[in-house]
Amino acid sequence: MAKEEILACSFCGRKKAETDLLIAGLDAHICDKCIEQAHGIVIEEVADGKKDSLSSEIILKKPIEIKAFIDQYMIGQTDAKRVMAVAVYNHYKRLLQKNTKDDEDEVEIEKSNIIIVGETGTGKTLIAKTIARMLNVPFAIVDATVLTEAGYVGEDVETLLTRLLQAADYNVEKAQRGIVFIDEVDKIARKGDNPSITRDVSGEGVQQALLKLLEGTVVNVPPKGGRKHPDQKFVEVDTQNILFIAGGAFSGIDKVISKRLNRQAVGYSASISEDKIDKENLLQYILPTDLKTFGLIPEIIGRLPVLTHMDPLDAETLRAILTEPKNSIIKQYKKLFEMDGITLTIDEKALQFIVDKAVDYKLGARGLRSLCEAILTDAMFELPGSETKELRVTKKYADERISKTTIKQLKAV
Ligand code: ADP
Repeated sequence: MAKEEILACSFCGRKKAETDLLIAGLDAHICDKCIEQAHGIVIEEVADGKKDSLSSEIILKKPIEIKAFIDQYMIGQTDAKRVMAVAVYNHYKRLLQKNTKDDEDEVEIEKSNIIIVGETGTGKTLIAKTIARMLNVPFAIVDATVLTEAGYVGEDVETLLTRLLQAADYNVEKAQRGIVFIDEVDKIARKGDNPSITRDVSGEGVQQALLKLLEGTVVNVPPKGGRKHPDQKFVEVDTQNILFIAGGAFSGIDKVISKRLNRQAVGYSASISEDKIDKENLLQYILPTDLKTFGLIPEIIGRLPVLTHMDPLDAETLRAILTEPKNSIIKQYKKLFEMDGITLTIDEKALQFIVDKAVDYKLGARGLRSLCEAILTDAMFELPGSETKELRVTKKYADERISKTTIKQLKAV
């Protein structure tokens, strides 16, 4: 006891009682305050002198390897995987070129920001997240609907970078090589063709504000975000090497595409003959001009040069999503039960039943989780700590549990 009273930090001399935490080493101790200070020094050092070590942290694989990595987590969507693998590969090649560039090298590779069009729940976020995981770079998801022009109620576009800074533990260098996923970008499309009298605060104005960010500029970012902390010091973030991936459902754009295809079919430049058009999946024919017709301004489209689409998910794909990805929904539930010593098995018919319900209710892949949750909640409540060590989900079991749940509950995920 007496010995403990004289324990003190070997760096600043604070006694144990004056610290929140005192960690013991071999012959010395360090207090929480000194740890924080030392951590700050390490970060500064990295930012100042060891920038190259950060780019070596990025694990850059070849496009084929990138696709193979995504394949582990994601079913189907071959087009999007290929296009994005190339775009990401080129983006990080550009980044590495900047580090090694000498004056004679005049070819400057431009940024390859990406835009993905696809119905909700088809994996737009998943693909972006998986790529960030593979590259070991910070990743932030921001909803475009909360963004407004500076000065209006809502969040300024700079807060996109606040999230990225947070994801990078406030390491600016790291954040500057990160990926930002801008979700629901279709919601900032210009509303209608005729300019209205009231300003379009959340539409074209936001698109204008985004332009610079997408292209590459130095932005003063409020590290805590928002305007609630007026006294915070801004952090300068250069967006030149940040990869922006925008995603949106662009609901109704299939009509725009179909109209254009029809026009083309009667005109000279019929590249796809009408009978070959797959009407179930018109998104695969999307072109930048369709985004313009939808209401994105040409400048934004120009700064998101890589355009790709997500295919709608059919029953077969949904069935595969349930069990095949590395961390598939079913594998996750099995793991959860296993942690309580319970073996979970789900009959093939029950799996098929879940898929059919997801298709019937038009819930997409996101619905698979809510359906599983509805089926397994009773068991997850009752079984831990009980005598039961096995749970077999049959179609009947699944049906009984789901019929107790409303569609509204299932959609609320
Ligand atoms: P979006 O961003 O297009 O709305 P998400 O990426 O959030 O969709 O996907 C919703 C859910 O469905 C996630 O849990 C995701 O893991 C799953 N999911 C969607 N598409 C696929 C796919 N092709 N393969 C595996 N899981 C998928």
